[in-house]
Amino acid sequence: MSDTCAIYSCDIPSERPWSGVLRKGQTLRIIDSEGQQAVDALLYCADDPAERYSSQDTLRVQGSAYVELGTRLISNKGRVMARVTADTCGRHDTSAGCCSCESNAVRFGEATKYQHACRENFIIELSKHGLTKRDIVSNLNFFMNVPIDPSGNFTVVDGLSAPGNHVDVTADMDVLFVISNCPQVNNPCNGFNPTPIRVVISDAPGM
Ligand SMILES: [Zn+2]
Repeated sequence: MSDTCAIYSCDIPSERPWSGVLRKGQTLRIIDSEGQQAVDALLYCADDPAERYSSQDTLRVQGSAYVELGTRLISNKGRVMARVTADTCGRHDTSAGCCSCESNAVRFGEATKYQHACRENFIIELSKHGLTKRDIVSNLNFFMNVPIDPSGNFTVVDGLSAPGNHVDVTADMDVLFVISNCPQVNNPCNGFNPTPIRVVISDAPGM
């Protein structure tokens, strides 16, 4: 995707949410501007938000634990919503879920309960589209590194993405794309320092 075919771009400040509708055939490029920044994401069918991203079906269909180049993002109705068409990072997660005030309190102590979290970002952004926290499902974590060891254990470790790394997602249907630029500071998913990201929408299919 060259800059000349971009029809929309936006810098998302650290810790903030974003949403937009991606029309069928359009490509969303997510750029990790400064590196090591997890980008939590949810997808909904724009015409019927009851159809939405399913991490379980995505993993089952591809038979692999990670999201990477070529991954088809599958809905809860078994349809392809979008696919990863470019990736300069190489490691994305859809197993570890998003952070919340409640999970922060359990994992990192009561003192972290009032820190801003992805779940709150999702609630804020979904409210713009008539959706609520009941519509939050297991999500994608672009640029988040969650290696699974041979015994099946996994944990969030240092991100692999370098400044300027990007991932392209090309839509197979009209998709409402909701992002939380993760505010987490208690584990290494954001290098303990949340930073801005950039999104670019293009009419061109991914490369
Ligand atoms: Zn988060």
